[in-house]
Amino acid sequence: MKLRIEPRRHCSDEQLLAWLDGELQPTAARWVQSHLKICWECRARLQDIDGQVSLVVETLIETRHLEMDRAARAKAVFLAWRRYTPAPPRNPVSTE
Ligand SMILES: [Zn+2]
Repeated sequence: MKLRIEPRRHCSDEQLLAWLDGELQPTAARWVQSHLKICWECRARLQDIDGQVSLVVETLIETRHLEMDRAARAKAVFLAWRRYTPAPPRNPVSTE
């Protein structure tokens, strides 16, 4: 037999996300906080959302670094090409 206390309602994903971002109104934030204390389901979902957000942020940062590296590489290639090539070739070096 499963003994389970049902809270009145659970936090929505939007509420949890806003709570993580600190964007909830103080009253709502207090409600979410006290609900999280008693509800393992929402805690688990919060962790899940938190993990997904971290993953997205990490991916964004990584992508940005890759793009910066690619831009820096392209610039280096271009400068080297300018220095060592007297006349521009018909098809400039493609970075793709
Ligand atoms: Zn809940």
